Amino acid sequence: MILHIDMDAFFASIEQAINPRLKGRPLIVGSRGNRMHTVVCAASYPAKALGIHSGMPSKDAFSVCPNLEFVAADQAKYIWTSEQIFELLKGYGFSLNYASVDEFQMDIQGYPEPLKLAGKIQEQIYANFNITASIGLAKNWLLAKLASKINKPNGVTLINDTNFKEALSQAPLSKLCGMAGKTGQILIARGLKTCWDLYLNLPEFFDENPGKFEEIAIGQELPKSISHSYTLPMASQNPRFITAWIRLLSEMVGERLRHQNLAAKTVHLWLNSPETGNFLGQRTFLRETNDSYEIYLRALKIMAGKPKKGHKIRALGVTASGLSRQTYLPLLIEEKRREVLVKAIDRINSRFGDSSIYPAQVILTRK
Ligand SMILES: [Mg+2]
Repeated sequence: MILHIDMDAFFASIEQAINPRLKGRPLIVGSRGNRMHTVVCAASYPAKALGIHSGMPSKDAFSVCPNLEFVAADQAKYIWTSEQIFELLKGYGFSLNYASVDEFQMDIQGYPEPLKLAGKIQEQIYANFNITASIGLAKNWLLAKLASKINKPNGVTLINDTNFKEALSQAPLSKLCGMAGKTGQILIARGLKTCWDLYLNLPEFFDENPGKFEEIAIGQELPKSISHSYTLPMASQNPRFITAWIRLLSEMVGERLRHQNLAAKTVHLWLNSPETGNFLGQRTFLRETNDSYEIYLRALKIMAGKPKKGHKIRALGVTASGLSRQTYLPLLIEEKRREVLVKAIDRINSRFGDSSIYPAQVILTRK
C-alpha cells in the first residue's frame, strides 16, 4: 500500500506558522517581492475560499480581496522545511520518495494499521512544524495521490476495493495526476467528467500503472561528475569571448545532465592561463540544477574577479558534481515556465540537430 503525504497550502502554511498574525487570514505568497507585479505561488485556505489560486497574477488576487496579506516567497525556508519533514518521515523506516517539495510517498506494504499510521504522521508533522498535511492511502501511487486531495486540508482518505467506485465518481477528472493539463481538457471535452468515467473507458490506467514510485526510488549508480573543457586555438584575454565559451560549455554540461535526468549541486570552473597557470574554483549551492543558464551563472560567480585584467586564458572547463536524480520540482511559476522552455529547446535540438537553437552569446565561439 502506498501512503501519499501532501502538505496543505505548503508555502502559505509555513509563513503562517512563523508569523501567527497571519494565521486564519487570506494570504498569498508571491513569486517575487513586488506585490502588485507577481504571480501567486501559494494561497492560504481563506484566500482559496475567495477563489484565489496559484498561477493567478497577484494584481487579480488583490482586486478580489484588497485586504489580502502578502509575503514574498522564501525558497530556502520552504526547502529547509521540506528536508526536515523528509527526515522525520524517514524515521518510520519505510521506503520513502520525494514526489515534490511538498509531497512524499511512502511504501508501507504489509503494515497492519495504515490509517492509524497516517493519523500519527499528521500529528507528528503538526507537532514539529505547526502545519497540516493531507494523506491518501491506496494500492498504487496514482490512487494514493488522488486520495490525498479528496479531504483537504488535514484529511486522511483511503481508497480501497470497497469505496473505489464511490471515490472515483466523486473526484473530478482534473484532480487526477496528469489530467490537469491538455490531456485532461481533451478527455473532458469528450464527455469524461469524473475519474470513474475514465476508469470505465480506460481501466488499465488505474491498476498497477507504471510505478513512478519505483522509477524514482531505485538507486542506480550515479556518475560522479559531468564535465566539458576546451583549449582555445589561441590564448585570449577578451572577457566576452571567454564568457561565451563558459556559456557554451555550460550548455553542453546542462544538456547531458538533463539527458540523464540528473541535477547538480556543485559547479566547478577550471581556467588555464599561460601566465598564471591553473585556476580551479568550485561552489556548492543549496538547490540542484540542470538548467544550462543557471550553471553558467554559477560558473560566473566562481569566476568573479578571475582572471585578473590582462591575463590570458588558454583553456577552460566546466564541471557539474554532487549529482542526484532530480528531486525538487520547480517551486515558482517563473521556474516552471523556464523548465517548459528548456524542455522545448531540448526537443527541437534533438529533432533538428544539436545546435538548431543556442544562446546568441555562443556565436562568439564560432568565429
Ligand atoms: Mg500540497
